[in-house]
Amino acid sequence: NACKTNLGTHILVFPFPAQGHILPLLDLTHQLALRGLIITILVTPKNLSFVKPLLARHPSCIKTLVLPFPTAIQSFSSAPSLPPGIENLKDLPSSYIPAFLHALAKLNEPLLQWFESQIRYSSSPPVAILSDLWTQDLAVRLNIVRVAFFPMSAHNLSVVNYFLSNLPTREDCKDPNHLFTAYGVPNSPVFPIYQIYPSHHLYADASPLWKIFQHNNSLNKASWGIVLNSFSELEEPFLNHLRENYGNHGRVWGVGPLLPPIDHHRKDSSAESRNRGRPSSTCIEQVMSWLDSCAENQQSVLYVCFGSQIVLNRKQIEALSVGLEQSGVKFIWGVKEISSSLTDHEDIEKSVLPTGFEDRVAGQGLVIKGWAPQVAILSHQAVNTFLTHCGWNSVLEGLVAGVQLLLWPMINDHFMTAKLLETDLGLAVKICEGADTVPNSTELARVIAESVPQGDQEGKSRPQMIRAMEMGKMGLEAVKGGGRSFKNLDELVLELKK
Ligand code: UDP
Repeated sequence: NACKTNLGTHILVFPFPAQGHILPLLDLTHQLALRGLIITILVTPKNLSFVKPLLARHPSCIKTLVLPFPTAIQSFSSAPSLPPGIENLKDLPSSYIPAFLHALAKLNEPLLQWFESQIRYSSSPPVAILSDLWTQDLAVRLNIVRVAFFPMSAHNLSVVNYFLSNLPTREDCKDPNHLFTAYGVPNSPVFPIYQIYPSHHLYADASPLWKIFQHNNSLNKASWGIVLNSFSELEEPFLNHLRENYGNHGRVWGVGPLLPPIDHHRKDSSAESRNRGRPSSTCIEQVMSWLDSCAENQQSVLYVCFGSQIVLNRKQIEALSVGLEQSGVKFIWGVKEISSSLTDHEDIEKSVLPTGFEDRVAGQGLVIKGWAPQVAILSHQAVNTFLTHCGWNSVLEGLVAGVQLLLWPMINDHFMTAKLLETDLGLAVKICEGADTVPNSTELARVIAESVPQGDQEGKSRPQMIRAMEMGKMGLEAVKGGGRSFKNLDELVLELKK
């Protein structure tokens, strides 16, 4: 047992409670446990369930530290305050991010007390904090190592770092479409500022928020090392750029694509283990048998999902449902639902499907309201194409599954990821853009029908799809023994054990 031989090296992992952060950071934690580290994961009570499968897998190496979620407080005048009882961003639209960050910062004090008791009473107190939140101050206070984890592309971090180090003038900020060039970042990416930072709906209150992110960025840069869910074959120029420009230590490790510990498409895997993150809102067996019934015509299904945060508005839902129906293509559509505690919030109005839609498309499509078992769906042989919002985890999951990517970037990093994939790497096709844009249904139906093969038709193999499949294979190689990401993980653990 690897754990027993290295009792001395203990680290604390502190994931930001949003699915796009928790899931890859727990996959990374699994890799670290396999390499013999002792790990304590800090969670609040309602996030404990996400950690349970990992605890069961590594009973002797991984423990949890459960701290109560801090009382919600107002952060900025224009930002909504946090509804009570919510501990994960999956239940909220992204406009709540500032309030969430504000509340979580209050965990610092109890965490400090925990560390002090560890130092006093434990035979192996933690030597490092691995987190995607700003714990740098804490690490400095405790004189231990902090490893910053980024569940985003190296391209995105490079652009954001440039942006936060060279904030536009007040005058420029008045125009969200003001073009901003990230000089020195490979390919000198150019974006309107609203596409870089922060979310467009926070724009009116952008200045104080930018200052906070700027501070956070400098804390991340001061960390001992950084880890990204990416790999050299996908992002070598940007990883190298970060080695030279982010912190002055060169400890920048691409360890992706981080994969879930189990094989999600294997029929002999239990339903529980194939439900990644949380149980599927439609029973996973039903989803899989629906896909099995489509698999006679190999690779004929489109999967549509915009991640764990994005909520479409009514017009977008209508346009997308008409487009899907008219395309005649088989589809699974994961529609995000938001917490019932937000019933008086305008967003609750947003996620409503047109009356009769599900009946009309019975046989053609499956709508999953709530949480879709995304990795299991993408891994199914019937799935050919993924319409994604360009969340970095979704993109990596799509590449690894060897599906074609159609892009609809919505906010923040999505635009940068879309540019990286479409323009720089030629791996994907953008079909819509913007959180408020309503696509033309007829055009949408045409692009979808052209992209996904139906009946006996051979699908058109776009060059982008071929390149995406090649990249996905390289990603899988990178995390196998001998691959660059695998070696980087080994190196990270060796450094931590020193
Ligand atoms: N996810 C899922 N089911 C859903 C929605 C999301 O399993 O219905 C998972 C998805 O597989 C990915 C993560 O949640 O691992 C979302 O992360 P991503 O970076 O793609 O987007 P975000 O939610 O952060 O915008």
